[in-house]
Amino acid sequence: MRIYNTHQRKALIEFLQSNSSKAFTIEEIVNSMGGNEISQSTAYRLMTKLVEDGLVHRSVKGNSRSFVYQYISESKCEGHLHMKCTDCGKVYHLDSSTTSRIQEDIKSNSSFEIDNHTILLGKCSLCK
Ligand SMILES: [Zn+2]
Ligand SMILES: [Zn+2]
Repeated sequence: MRIYNTHQRKALIEFLQSNSSKAFTIEEIVNSMGGNEISQSTAYRLMTKLVEDGLVHRSVKGNSRSFVYQYISESKCEGHLHMKCTDCGKVYHLDSSTTSRIQEDIKSNSSFEIDNHTILLGKCSLCK
C-alpha cells in the first residue's frame, strides 16, 4: 500500500523548513500544524520517507523512546559540520570557518581527515 499525498508532504516540509532551528516529535508537528492538517500516521509515514531522502534528520530524544525530527538540507549542509545535543536531539550547524579550522587542526596534528558528515555529540546550551 502506497498512498502518496503530495499536498500533505508539501505542508510538512514547509512547516519543518520554517522551523529548521528546532527538533520536533511527530505529535508536536501534528499539533503545531493545527491538528487536522495531517494525521499522526500520515506524518509518521511521510517523515520516514523524508529521513530516507536526506531532508530530515532523526534523533532519539534523551533517554526516551521518542524520536525528534529536524529539517536538514543535505545540499545546503555540505560545507560544514554539525553538533547534536544528546538530550533534546536538536542539531546545530557549525559555521564553515569553524569547520575548516577544526578540520585543519586535526589534519595537521594527526593527518586524519574528518569528513563533512561528522556529527559532534554533546549538550546544547539549553540542556546543560
Ligand atoms: Zn547544516
Ligand atoms: Zn539540547
